[in-house]
Amino acid sequence: ETTGRNKTVSSICCYCGTGCGVLIQSDGQRLTSVEGDPTHPANLGRLCSKGRTLADTTGKPGARLLYPEQRLAKDAPRQRVAWDDAIETAADRIAAAVAQHGPNSVAFYLSGQLLTEDYYVFNKLTRAVVGTNNVDTNSRLCMSSAVAGYKATLGADAPPACYEDIDQADVVLIAGSNMAYAHPVLFRRLEAAKAANPAMKVIVIDPRRTDTASLADLFLPILPGTDVALFHAMLNVLVWDDLLDRDYIEQHTEGFAKLKDRLREFTPRAAADICGISEEDIVTAARWFGRAGAALSFYTMGLNQSAAGTDKNAALIHLHLATGQIGKPGAGPFSLTGQPNAMGGREVGGLSNLLSAHRDLANPEHRAEVAAIWGVDSIPAEPGLPAIELFEAAAKGQIKVLWVVCTNPAQSLPDQALVRRALEKVDFVIVQEAFAGSETLPYADLVLPASTWPEKDGTVTNSERRISRVRAALPAPGEARHDWIIARDVAQALEARLRPLRPTLFPYDDGSQVFAEHVVTTAGRDLDITGLSYAVLDEIGPQQWPFPAGATSGKARLYQDGRFATPSGRARFVDIGYRPVAENVSAQYPLRLTTGRLRDHWHTMSRTALVPGLTRHVEEPVLSLNQRDLDRFHLKNGDLARIKSRRGAIVLPVEADDNLRPGMAFLPMHWGGAYMAGNGVNALTLGKVDPVSRQPELKHAAITLEPA
Ligand code: SF4
Repeated sequence: ETTGRNKTVSSICCYCGTGCGVLIQSDGQRLTSVEGDPTHPANLGRLCSKGRTLADTTGKPGARLLYPEQRLAKDAPRQRVAWDDAIETAADRIAAAVAQHGPNSVAFYLSGQLLTEDYYVFNKLTRAVVGTNNVDTNSRLCMSSAVAGYKATLGADAPPACYEDIDQADVVLIAGSNMAYAHPVLFRRLEAAKAANPAMKVIVIDPRRTDTASLADLFLPILPGTDVALFHAMLNVLVWDDLLDRDYIEQHTEGFAKLKDRLREFTPRAAADICGISEEDIVTAARWFGRAGAALSFYTMGLNQSAAGTDKNAALIHLHLATGQIGKPGAGPFSLTGQPNAMGGREVGGLSNLLSAHRDLANPEHRAEVAAIWGVDSIPAEPGLPAIELFEAAAKGQIKVLWVVCTNPAQSLPDQALVRRALEKVDFVIVQEAFAGSETLPYADLVLPASTWPEKDGTVTNSERRISRVRAALPAPGEARHDWIIARDVAQALEARLRPLRPTLFPYDDGSQVFAEHVVTTAGRDLDITGLSYAVLDEIGPQQWPFPAGATSGKARLYQDGRFATPSGRARFVDIGYRPVAENVSAQYPLRLTTGRLRDHWHTMSRTALVPGLTRHVEEPVLSLNQRDLDRFHLKNGDLARIKSRRGAIVLPVEADDNLRPGMAFLPMHWGGAYMAGNGVNALTLGKVDPVSRQPELKHAAITLEPA
C-alpha cells in the first residue's frame, strides 16, 4: 500500500519462531515505523519489545557490511573486491578443494534466520553441485532434538498443534522454556487465556524460577537434565491412578507395554530424588495433566539443548499419547521454534542428515526422489557432518573451505576455544553476513555482504507450521545482495567448473521460482504444499501446512484421525531410560551452569545491540547464583569472579539471585568477545551431543568460581 512517498509493507518479524506479522512503514529510504499486523493469525497485532523496536535497528552507520572483501593471506588485511571477483574466487577455491581433497573437504554452516528460498538454494548447491552433504545449520543448536523426538514418536517432524490451542487448553505444561522472554507474544496470549479461564492450570518445569514461572500454578524447579525421570514418573502416576486413555493407546499407538515395564523404576519417590523436587508435586502435576479436558505442552531449549534431548522430547510426547491429548483442540505437544525460520530450513532439508521435504538422507529412495526432481544422477549417500562434528573435523584440518552464512559460530557454538581453533585451521573461510560486528568475521578470508530484514523477500514458516511471506521494505545498503542470489551465482560459477556444458540447475531470476521448485519437492509428503505459491499466499495470506493442491486452507491440527506418519500408522512409545547430564559436577567444578535468553536481546545481539532501549533492560552480562554460593566462594554482589570450566574461563560480575537453588548458576547467552576479553559464555559450555539429534548440551556445564 502506498500513500504519497510513504509505503506500508506487510512482512514478518525477523526474531523468534512465533513469526509475528508486522506492518512496515517507510519513506522509501528509511523505516518510519513497525507495528503489529492485526490480520496475522500468529500475533493478531501484538508485538514484543524486540518486534516493536525493529525500525530502530535499520540505518545505523557502521552497522552493516557493504562490500565484498578478501584477504590474500591469513595475516594480511582484507581489501574491498568487486562482486564478480568475489564470486569467481569462491568458486575457484571450492573447485580446487573438491579436486585436491574431495567434496567432503567443503562444508556449509547456515542459519535458522535464512529464508526458505536461501536455504533451498544452498542445499541444492551443496548436495547437487559440490557433491557433499556437509551442510548443517545453527538449527542443530536449536531444534534438532525436537525433530528427532517427533520422528521417534509421531513418525514425522511436524508440530501437531496450533496457537489457537492456547485459548482452548485447560492444562498447559511448559518445560524448559522461558516463554515470557523467548516467545513473549505467545506468553501474552497464554496470560490472556488464563485470565479468561481462571480454572486453567499452568505447570512450569525449569531449573530456574523464570518470569514464565510467575504464571505457574505449580512450579517444578528440577535439577538440570532430569526431565526424562520426571516425565516417566508422571506417566507412572497416570498408570497407577488409571488416568490413561486406554482406547487411544490400544487403537493408535504401539510400544506401551514395554515402556510400562520400565516405568516401574520411576516411582514418584525415585524421581523426586533424581529431580530434586517433592514427590507430592510430581503426583499433582501428573494428576492435573491426566484429568485435563485438553492438555497442551510447550517446550524448547531446556529439552532440546541436551545430550539426552531426543529422549526428553519423546518422554514428554509419551504423556500426550498415553492420555490421547493430541490431535484435538487445546491439546498436543508443541515445540516452540527458537529461530524465525528453523521450520522452513527443516522443510527444505537444511540439516546434514535430511533432504528436501522432510526426506531422510539415509533412505536410498528419498535420495533418488530428490535426484530426479533436481535432474542430477544421484545425491551423495555419505552422511554429512552435523554442526559440532563439522567444527571438530575442521579443527583436525579436514575441512579446506568453510562457508558460514548468517550466523556467528565463533560466539554461538559451545566450546569456543575449539571452534576458534577450527576457524583458524580452515584454508579458506567464507563469511556471508549482514552485520559488521560478528565475532566470526576476523576469521574470514572472503566476506560476502548480505541483505537482511527489512530488505529481503521470500517465505518463512513459524512454530505452528504457518508459511508467511516476508517482504522487502527497503533496498539493501551498499552492494549487499540477497543470500539466495549469492548462492545461485556461486553455484553457476561452480557449474562452469564442475559440470560444464550442462544446463544450469539454478535457473532462478526470482524467489518465487525457488519457492515453486520447493513446492514440487513436497508433493505427496507430510508437508505437501502443492496448493501454495507466492500468488496464493499474497491473495489469501499466511497458511499452515499441509496445503495440498485443491485445498482452500491449511490444517490447524495434525493427527486428528489418530493416524500417524509411521509405517504402521501408529504413534510409538519409545523404551528410553534416564541419563544424567553429560558433565556432572565434581569437587573441582561444583556449580551447575545453565544458559538462556534475556527478554530484550536476540542471539549474539548483532541487531538488538543497535537499539539503546533494548540494551537498558540488562546492560551487561552477570553471573547469577544463590546467595549461599556467593558466601561459599567469598564473593559479594557486584564482585568480579573468574568463572572456569574444563574448557575455558571468563571474568564477570556476580549477583545473588534467589530464583536459583544453591549449586545452580545462570548466564545469559548473548554477550561475546567485545565484552569478555575475547570470550563469551560459550568459552565455558561443552560440545557433548545427543546421540540421535547431534544437538549439543548448551544448557549445562560444570563450573567453579574464584574472586578475580
Ligand atoms: Fe518478533 Fe518473536 Fe517478539 Fe513476535 S514474539 S515480535 S516474532 S520477537
